[in-house]
Amino acid sequence: MTDQLLALLAHTTAVLLDFDGPVTPLLPADRNAHLADATRAVLREAGTGLTDSVSATSDHLAVLRFAASNAPATLEAVERTAVQGEVDAARLAVPTPGAAEFLAACHQTRRPVVVVSNNSADSVEAFLQQHHLHDLVQEILGRPYGEPSLMKPHPELVRRALAILDRQPQSCVMIGDSVTDIEVSRAADVHSIGYAKTPERGTELQRAGADAVITDMTALAEAIHTSAAAD
Ligand SMILES: [Mg+2]
Repeated sequence: MTDQLLALLAHTTAVLLDFDGPVTPLLPADRNAHLADATRAVLREAGTGLTDSVSATSDHLAVLRFAASNAPATLEAVERTAVQGEVDAARLAVPTPGAAEFLAACHQTRRPVVVVSNNSADSVEAFLQQHHLHDLVQEILGRPYGEPSLMKPHPELVRRALAILDRQPQSCVMIGDSVTDIEVSRAADVHSIGYAKTPERGTELQRAGADAVITDMTALAEAIHTSAAAD
């Protein structure tokens, strides 16, 4: 546990929490590729020509973005397919080690948590309900339906979370595993903790400007308790 992490927790009172990664590995590579195929199939059925990068991507959210800008008539159906695939994945997903402990630690120490996810709120909700974690979060903010341009790193979700929490940005910390989580935090003046499963990702998150990088949600749960005890 680093002093830097404890200082960060001492200066913040609320959490903005990314979902896929720090809470659960919702879409491992194979499942994500499968969902990208399903969303692509909607575009193909509608006769939409795909670019090479959209044909090859294993990220269904990239397909969704493409639909929004290149085939708006298909957007609703692509979004529906994306949401269904995420909900199906959420039913199979297990918590990231330490995630439940982290949410419990925040709850016990009265540090409110708002989930800010580029996945659908339905999938976050299904996952949290299934694992009895739902009562530990104040609010779930998912991808704005049919408006993929508002996904992180767009500041919309962070702005909404700050309004719900009624906090200044500087008193909040975002926890996420993507460079975009760090970018949106910096743009919104929110502190950030990168969650990195690999050393490479840790380097990327650090380079993006994360205030701290962790590799273990259990350690973060412990740090929350330590910080509260020092108050
Ligand atoms: Mg993530």
